[in-house]
Order: sequence, then C-alpha cells, then structure tokens
Amino acid sequence: MNVKFALIILFAAHSWMIDCASAQPAKGDPIAELIQKVNLDSMLGTVRVLSGLDSVNLPGSHGLILSRQRDYPGNELAASYLLSEIKKQGLQPKLYCSSPTCCNILATLQGTRPQAPPIILSAHYDSRPIAEVAPGADDNASGCAAVLEAVRILKAYRFYHDIIFAFWDEEEENAVGSATHAFQLSQKNKRLKGMISVDMIGYDADDDGKVLINTKDIGISPLMADLMVEVNEKVCLDMRKALNPT
Ligand SMILES: [Zn+2]
Repeated sequence: MNVKFALIILFAAHSWMIDCASAQPAKGDPIAELIQKVNLDSMLGTVRVLSGLDSVNLPGSHGLILSRQRDYPGNELAASYLLSEIKKQGLQPKLYCSSPTCCNILATLQGTRPQAPPIILSAHYDSRPIAEVAPGADDNASGCAAVLEAVRILKAYRFYHDIIFAFWDEEEENAVGSATHAFQLSQKNKRLKGMISVDMIGYDADDDGKVLINTKDIGISPLMADLMVEVNEKVCLDMRKALNPT
C-alpha cells in the first residue's frame, strides 16, 4: 500500500479503469477495492448533522448544530460529534486547543515505517458567516465528511507513512487552527510528507465538472497535485490543477 491510496480515496467516483465508458471495477485491484467502499449515505449523514439538519445525540452533548462559527455553541458541538465519530472507528482522536475558541482535532493512523514523515489529510470544521445560523454544508461539512469517510475506510489498511486525519478550527478566521499546528510542527522541527486539505467538494462553482486542485509552488506540492491528477484519471475523475491561485 502506498500514499496513492490516500490521495485517491478523497475523490473516488467510479472504478480503477482506463475505459471510462464502463462502470465495472477491475477485479482484484486494491484501489478499486477502496473506491467501492466509499459510501455516499455515510458522507451525506455527516453533512446533515454538521449542517443542522439532523441532531447530535451524545451523552452531555446534544442538539442541532446551527452554526459552526467559533462564537456559537454549534462549533463545540461539532467538535464533540467529530471526536465521537472518529472514536467509533477505533482511532484515538485528540483535541488540541490553542485558545478558548480554537480547538483542532487530530487522529493518527499509525504507519509501518516510524521514520517516514506523516501525511496530513484535513478539513476545517468551522463555518461562516458570524451568525446563529451558518450551516456551511458545502463549506466545509462536505470536506469533513470526506475526511471522516477516509477514516472509516482507511483504518483497515496500513501505510508506510502515518496518516494524520485533522479537523481544523478557525479556518474562517485567517486559518488560525491550521497555522497554529504548522507553527508548532516547525518549532519541533517536524517534517511532513505532504498535506491535503479538502474544502468545498459539494458544489462545482464553475460548473466545469472537474475537481479543482489548488496548489502552490512550494516544495513537492505541484508534484503531489500532478500525482493526484494522474491517479484520478485512471478512475475517470477529471481534475484540474491551479498553480498559485490568487
Ligand atoms: Zn472552507
């Protein structure tokens, strides 16, 4: 197993085939096997809870998540829900609060090579606007649903690298949550293999039918983006790379 599996699972649509006219997966292909496990109902269920359509029912934490903006109770409720969902999958998530309002959630799927730098697969869970109702179904309950689905599926596999599933808080406040984590990593001189941030995958804003990969000309980021495009071509999912978008 290698990192390609982690990349592909986010955007999987059909099957590991060159012939896009046929919907049948190639038998015995491990990537096809992973893709077949992606469950739309599972992802939709996450989006419904995080955007306040279905309620959270946890001991001590229950109700509708009406707004995940940092100043509203739905933000904390969303964190409780995500922690609970990750635990259900057998991982041990941790809450890292850098301020009373900013709490990131991280859970690690241990890799087989301790020296291999980890890969982060992430989504922000806070929302906008600053209002009592800020459902953010696309931005970014959809991304959270993708990362949770990756937890559900990938937990059964082992990769060379640690995969860190991260849910950032206060992305809508100048990316405070992820920036804090990046700063802490740099202070400890810790290296990453790469990071994929999943944001707004529930809506095709320019209606071109393609998944947009925003990347910057930093380190191996453009190569990672090229790899994602290449891998996903084989599952018949169009992707478009945008380098250094404004
Ligand atoms: Zn977003």
